[in-house]
Amino acid sequence: MGNPHLFEGVVLEDRPKKRIFIGLLVITCLILFFLIFLVWYVPLVGLKNIHSSLPLIFTFTLAVLVFLMISGGLLLIFTILRGKDTFFSHKLRGIVAKVLFPFMILMGKMVGVSKEKVQQSFIELNNHLVRSNRPQTRPSRLLVLLPHCIQNFDCQIKITGNIKNCKGCGKCEIKDLVELSDRYQVKIAVATGGTLARRIIVENRPEGIVAVACELDLTSGIQDSYPIPVIGILNERPQGPCFNTKVNIEKVKSGILDFLEPESR
Ligand code: SF4
Repeated sequence: MGNPHLFEGVVLEDRPKKRIFIGLLVITCLILFFLIFLVWYVPLVGLKNIHSSLPLIFTFTLAVLVFLMISGGLLLIFTILRGKDTFFSHKLRGIVAKVLFPFMILMGKMVGVSKEKVQQSFIELNNHLVRSNRPQTRPSRLLVLLPHCIQNFDCQIKITGNIKNCKGCGKCEIKDLVELSDRYQVKIAVATGGTLARRIIVENRPEGIVAVACELDLTSGIQDSYPIPVIGILNERPQGPCFNTKVNIEKVKSGILDFLEPESR
């Protein structure tokens, strides 16, 4: 993880990660344009034999497809550069999460970019699109969702049912995170896996989520939760995965503030 940048009072993560996704997107578009050209050119002769107007209809349909692809790509890049809400930017987030991301993983594999790097890039791009949308959420409808591995491994207290059971000894960051949720009056919960996380979301019906997890859980969580906006924050794993993990509290605070209406801050 590199240094965060401060921009308009919001901590933005390093930009190069986002470029990975955009780079892969451009390569995918070029390949798709080539395939569309082949799909257009090859059957053109055969269609003419069926009906004289079919080649025109076929060309028009593919032209609309290319137009949508180009405008979608440009809109995405424009939203990223501008950092503000543009037309359909909430829909763009859905397209990025549900359609483009699986393509990008495949494309990353082909050009030698690791799955983890594409996932990090996707998370950063998603966060950017969520922030561009300027979500406004009441504190009671904002949920901070944490992975169980943030709790100190030796701690005997059960916090999965109720995180407020934490005694605040300070051996792990659960203490700071509970204090943060008390300060901003937002909901906070710990999930031991995807199934429990989904249940917590269904029960709480949040308008926004600040989720802390590893690359895999965050990407699937962002995809599954759509259209609920999620700011994803990667956990830190100084002792390896799923064991005594950590999180930058300032990033969680920044994620909460991204959602709250000004009077709730
Ligand atoms: S801060 Fe809370 S959860 Fe963490 S070790 Fe102490 S009592 Fe347990």
